[in-house]
Amino acid sequence: MRIAIFGTKGYDRHFLSAANQGHELHFLEPRLDADTASLGEGFEAVCVFVNDRLDAAVLAKLAAGGTRLIALRCAGYNNVDLVAAADLGLTVVRVPAYSPHAVAEFTVALLMALDRRIHRAWARVRENNFALDGLIGRNLHGRVAGVIGTGRIGALVARTLKLGFGCEVLASDVAEDPELLAMGVRYVSPRDLLEQVDIVSLHCPLTPDTRHIINADAIGRARDGLVIVNTSRGALIDTQALVAGLKSRKIGGVALDVYEQEADLFFEDLSNEIIEDDLFQRLLTFPNVLVTGHQAFLTEEALASIAETTMANISDFAAGRPLANRVDPQAAIAPRG
Ligand code: NAD
Repeated sequence: MRIAIFGTKGYDRHFLSAANQGHELHFLEPRLDADTASLGEGFEAVCVFVNDRLDAAVLAKLAAGGTRLIALRCAGYNNVDLVAAADLGLTVVRVPAYSPHAVAEFTVALLMALDRRIHRAWARVRENNFALDGLIGRNLHGRVAGVIGTGRIGALVARTLKLGFGCEVLASDVAEDPELLAMGVRYVSPRDLLEQVDIVSLHCPLTPDTRHIINADAIGRARDGLVIVNTSRGALIDTQALVAGLKSRKIGGVALDVYEQEADLFFEDLSNEIIEDDLFQRLLTFPNVLVTGHQAFLTEEALASIAETTMANISDFAAGRPLANRVDPQAAIAPRG
């Protein structure tokens, strides 16, 4: 098949080329949106990532240009109008799971870096400043950690915090994980969890129910000094409320790999640009905030797995085989990350 691959970086070229099963790959640098959709004209398959925008207008343009398959090289499909895709006869496939370990390990790395001030220590040592004032951390051992969403990634994080560090772990999910229960993880409601934990790590998908699950009310009810980690989806947190909570010292620390308005920022080198997002810039000024640009998935293992599944999805479609990773249009009401 002829495939237009939007938003490609060097690592996408490398891993997708290595996994190619004889398709004609066209690597395009721009992200897919209304302005760039015409680049997909004449391609039977269009391959996209998390911040490409596949709204009804973009999908209509692609369908008119001959596209029949949308191959997401990620798990989430909250950026695709699935109803419009179904109406236009477009099939959508995704990579439901690639390496939950990649994201879970990064989550714990972020938490530890934040909690032990490693980001600040690294900057100091580069300036030959070896003073320790301001770098006092907290032991993870014995603290109460909460995991919201104990699916593939959240379960690994809960397990690591419980068995690896000796945290008391509370969890919240619509379905309980028996293995976590057996190791002493306690399931409670999101409300109770947020009132009882020292640390909360978010691993639920972004849905209408979970949007702004961390908001002013939740922050107000939380323990003083709450540490918040989010490697799931930015809009799980109301960033305005987060900044207010940091300013009032109610929140003790924040580690983010995702951000509500990240589509305008992440994955690009903007070091020569003026950033117009004042809220994001304010976030970066706090000494107890650590932000990375949506890189939790970025391991060799995960990239290889994403590329292999993406190519297998495309080959299955081309050969008319059943599509194991097809996104059901009915899922439009419950987008996952
Ligand atoms: P998953 O589907 O295996 O797990 C999600 C869990 O959330 C499920 O157990 C589900 O029951 C639960 N859930 C659903 N609604 C809930 C609610 N209202 N409250 C509490 N729990 C709820 O997904 P996963 O593979 O573990 O991925 C988790 C998230 O990680 C994704 O949604 C995605 O946003 C994010 N992610 C981020 C990166 C990154 O690079 N930062 C990479 C991959 C995935």
